[in-house]
Amino acid sequence: MAHDEDDEQQTQDLRAAAAPGTTPAAVPGTTSAADRADRRDQAVRAAVEQGVVGPAAPVVGLLDIAGIRASAAALRAAFEAATPPGTPVLHAFAVKATPLVPVLRLLRAAGIGAEVASPGELALARAAGVTPADTVLDSPAKSPAELRQALALGIAVNADNPQELARLDALVQSAPTASPVGLRVNPQIGGGSIGALSTATATSKFGVPLLDEGARQWVIQAFLDRPWLTRLHAHSGSQGMPLEMMVRGVSATYELAEEVNERAGRRQIDTIDIGGGLPVNFGSDEESPTHAQYARRLKARVPGLLDGRYGLVTEFGRSLLAKHGTLLARVEYAKKAGGRPVAVTHAGVQVATRTVYAPLSWPLRITAYDTKGRPKTGPAVGQDVAGPACFAGDLLAENRPLPLLEQGDHIAALDTGAYYFAQHYSYNSLVRPGIYGFALHGDEVRFAAAREPQTLDEIVAESGGGSERDALRYL
Ligand SMILES: *Cc1c(COP(=O)(O)O)cnc(C)c1O
Repeated sequence: MAHDEDDEQQTQDLRAAAAPGTTPAAVPGTTSAADRADRRDQAVRAAVEQGVVGPAAPVVGLLDIAGIRASAAALRAAFEAATPPGTPVLHAFAVKATPLVPVLRLLRAAGIGAEVASPGELALARAAGVTPADTVLDSPAKSPAELRQALALGIAVNADNPQELARLDALVQSAPTASPVGLRVNPQIGGGSIGALSTATATSKFGVPLLDEGARQWVIQAFLDRPWLTRLHAHSGSQGMPLEMMVRGVSATYELAEEVNERAGRRQIDTIDIGGGLPVNFGSDEESPTHAQYARRLKARVPGLLDGRYGLVTEFGRSLLAKHGTLLARVEYAKKAGGRPVAVTHAGVQVATRTVYAPLSWPLRITAYDTKGRPKTGPAVGQDVAGPACFAGDLLAENRPLPLLEQGDHIAALDTGAYYFAQHYSYNSLVRPGIYGFALHGDEVRFAAAREPQTLDEIVAESGGGSERDALRYL
């Protein structure tokens, strides 16, 4: 508990520094791009010196704790500055972005809740001590048991479709619940630059498609028939959605809430959940766009949403964590093929799945460090940065201009705090690497494991090596 109080205090200090009226970038020494890059270089150096990364642990994930705290504080400050005092705002971190209990706990201490979309994610949020009041359950495929559990716990639930709403009808009638219940709609505003992450296309699998024939009327009637249905939810996409499109999605959702309330003759919808999806700049250390820019844009374009009449829920994931993660790997071998230098590292498809399988949609910045973890200098040479997996496409970067990497050097893949090393893919039975938070205390960099590296025994056990060992032989 004492530790949590420290966290609370630190958060309050940050929030005081980021009071409404100042920009989040004014939080001293924590959020500027140059500070973040500096801290990263210090952490890489210390990770090599302290053996956090080394021959026995050739790939690790690093998380910048000061950066995460600063982003959490800046997110809260952004919406506090845009709403009247006392407006209920829940920032529910999308757990899928970085599904680690210590990260959820850190965020909880910074006043951030959890958006969960599976029984596993709910279990992580509960293990982190996130309260039901600070938890939101979304998912397009909730089972009856999941719905029952959520309603019993009093967790907010967003229904995805008419069939789910029918299940909720029965559950709400059979037992009282403290859960706020909402409906997810798809404003069908179109897709962003990454199809797989665009959730508001005409044919998206998520929510009730608002522009389909009769759908809007159905939604309005659904609310009029159910006084306990009090929230409206939309999440229009993740990464690749321009800010303007996100604003359009939120605006359409707000207009619908206004129409429902007008038809109901009362403020039946009291809370609007605007989802997450703020895009992250993977091209430089600059945080752009910021949560504050998004909040200001919403304030200008959808003022009624933020005038205090509605409670708000947000579900940011990537934009809170991505820039605070660094994937660090040793160069095991440096070779040449067809005239091109190839650095073979231990960071590949298992920790950067999206980049390896869809390199054009998910390019990552790579920085080079020498054997001691110091930034590597020298003329840039086009080279491949390869992973350990046994297929040719396992590359973090192709023909990337970098100082020529040598055996024993290190590479860092930047902005990987969300949807990368915390989402292991078990190809080649590669172990899940350790993930370490770091913080500077004066000149000293201290590390703490947020997730210990997986052991080989654990891999064997998870791969049917326990009581299932002989299961197939005697079938
Ligand atoms: C994935 C997801 C989020 C988080 O998206 P980010 O792009 O990480 O901010 C929020 N809400 C829902 C419903 C999601 O599926």
